[in-house]
Amino acid sequence: MKIEDITPQYIQAISPYIPGKPISDLAREFGLDESTIIKLASNENPLGPSPKALAAIAQAAAELTRYPDGAGYDLKAAIAARFNVKPDQIVLGNGSNDILELVAHTFLRPGLSAVFAQHSFAVYPLATQAVGATCIVVPARDFGHDLDAMRKAVRDDTRVVWLANPNNPTGTWIPAPQIRAFIASLPADVLAVLDEAYNEYLAPELQADTAAWIAEFPNLIISRTFSKAYGLAALRVGYGLMDAGVAAMLNRVRQPFNVNSLAQAAAIAALADAQYVADSCEANRRGMRQLEDGFRKLGLAFIPSHGNFISVDVGDGARVNLSLLKKGVIVRPVANYAMPKFIRVTIGTEAENARFLAALAEALVE
Ligand SMILES: *Cc1c(COP(=O)(O)O)cnc(C)c1O
Repeated sequence: MKIEDITPQYIQAISPYIPGKPISDLAREFGLDESTIIKLASNENPLGPSPKALAAIAQAAAELTRYPDGAGYDLKAAIAARFNVKPDQIVLGNGSNDILELVAHTFLRPGLSAVFAQHSFAVYPLATQAVGATCIVVPARDFGHDLDAMRKAVRDDTRVVWLANPNNPTGTWIPAPQIRAFIASLPADVLAVLDEAYNEYLAPELQADTAAWIAEFPNLIISRTFSKAYGLAALRVGYGLMDAGVAAMLNRVRQPFNVNSLAQAAAIAALADAQYVADSCEANRRGMRQLEDGFRKLGLAFIPSHGNFISVDVGDGARVNLSLLKKGVIVRPVANYAMPKFIRVTIGTEAENARFLAALAEALVE
């Protein structure tokens, strides 16, 4: 007997998550000097963390022998004040990935199903399959969510709909009124998980107060993260906003100390550092224009993006990705998102973007 054989079939069937390649891996594989490698593969903030977050971490480091506050009192208070919700409507996560997992563990099981869009975030199928539930993948429309088709795909056994807005890896975005109407159209026993990992990057005129919707929809869970615009991906901290009753259910399956104390302290400081987020968004807008202009000059089609990344059609994503790796540029191939012609590139600093565009121009003619 092999232990693999007693693993539930639905676990054996999972295709593992493929992360962006770490710089140290590439250096080892191709014998490159780490300092010459740029990584534009995981939608990290190219500015580095907020100095205020770093100062908060240094202070919190003195208490490393203590368990973190499992209830996250101070961080919840800060989030509650920012979004005008109550602390008991917030669940903290070890990254927002943790929130998605908590939803799956709490509400899905074998015999139930979850609906999500084609070309949507890889964690939705992972979280769904990990608890033996069925994935219902709805074909995209112009690379974005087809909400009408997603609504029709909801079955009696559906308990969760995963929605990414903006979506990763396509960068597509749906206006708030359409998302709201979709949520309102769902049966009361179907949870809408509105994943807003890239919300902070939306242009101000596109921002909507989605947090206000949770008072209206007890079946709505909004997830947010400190990994992207707040620049704290390594610390793993995110949160969900939801009805207090739903939060109480998620908290039953949450690890008691799932968010460490450095992450909590840094997140509080980052949330208060509005200038850092504004600077990050401004740098992102400039970088996005730089890459779009570069793609136009190279005659490449791209999907207009509302995130801090952009997917571009390079004809053969696997080939171009390998060529870029050899030049010390790490981007994300997205064949596993059914987009084999594309690569996804994170907006970097101006110098990183220029280096990527130059390497891409070479890779295309090799
Ligand atoms: C990056 C990302 C997340 C968040 O990741 P965490 O680091 O776990 O917070 C969530 N959803 C989408 C769509 C993402 O791209």
